[in-house]
Amino acid sequence: MDTCPPGIFWIYLYIKYTKDMVTFNMIVKAYAKINLVLDVLGTRPDRYHELVTIMQTLDLHDVVEINEARKIELNVEGADLPAGPGNLAFQAADLLRRRAGFDGGADIKLVKRIPLAAGLAGGSADAAAVLHGLNNLWGLGMVASELETLGAAIGSDVPFCLRGGTALVQGRGEKVHPLPGLPPLGVLLVKPFFGLSTAQVYRLYDDIVEPLHPDSQGMLRAVCSGDVGGVVARLGNVLEQATMPLHPEIREIKEALTAIGASGVLMSGSGPTVFGLFENKAAALQAACEIKIGNFGVWVTEFN
Ligand code: ATP
Repeated sequence: MDTCPPGIFWIYLYIKYTKDMVTFNMIVKAYAKINLVLDVLGTRPDRYHELVTIMQTLDLHDVVEINEARKIELNVEGADLPAGPGNLAFQAADLLRRRAGFDGGADIKLVKRIPLAAGLAGGSADAAAVLHGLNNLWGLGMVASELETLGAAIGSDVPFCLRGGTALVQGRGEKVHPLPGLPPLGVLLVKPFFGLSTAQVYRLYDDIVEPLHPDSQGMLRAVCSGDVGGVVARLGNVLEQATMPLHPEIREIKEALTAIGASGVLMSGSGPTVFGLFENKAAALQAACEIKIGNFGVWVTEFN
């Protein structure tokens, strides 16, 4: 399970025979992401922000287990989240069923491991996993572009989560261009005890008069040429300028990660999670043992 290729949902499909019926059970991994670079180019007429970002899937994942059922039912383990229409996984199932005109359902169990409101796209990953899994379970035959269009209606990060890997993402998230994969760098994630609302972070960003922009073109060149040193040197997230003045913990975490040998550190997405990059997962694990930091959540993972 841990050696699945980058960006591909690893599906285990088995058939349970009972006396007089066959039911299908499917397990899909929903992978977290980080942003290696994130820039805001402006505000669009529809009031969404025009983004350019390079996203990278991590091995850290939620688990989505899907069984055939008459109607859509959701159970959540590991997080205090709604089990109905307030959950992005439920919204994905409901939207897919309605768009496809399918009259069956599914019993969905969501095991949360990705921290909430963390800038790691956990909810979007769950929605993408449900779209992907139910398209297969229900035999709908929707192609990737159709699923991405549905996904974009649920959340800006869903189209990327459907593809995974390393990708240039533009627009409000709906334009996803796959990029060559990077080596499996080790990642140490550190999340302060609070979460951040993406909408609120963008509102704070809008008040900044002259934001400094990261070198997203240079990052794109570095990723395309497999230049890991160039990637590390160009890590940049314009939204740090919105979150750091309010939350000094983010800078403290960056300093702590640098002090224990991370080659690059950055806040992911709209935060507040900060990631540190290491040569491999073993080095990230070693660093996790050494980090001197307060009461924050720590996860060790790697590029997937
Ligand atoms: P992004 O990076 O895409 O902005 P995020 O990592 O900051 O997302 P998420 O954890 O995806 O944030 O979720 C943000 C909010 O969405 C949560 O606070 C929660 O209220 C709601 N939500 C709904 N469904 C889910 C889900 N399945 N998993 C996580 N959050 C969910």
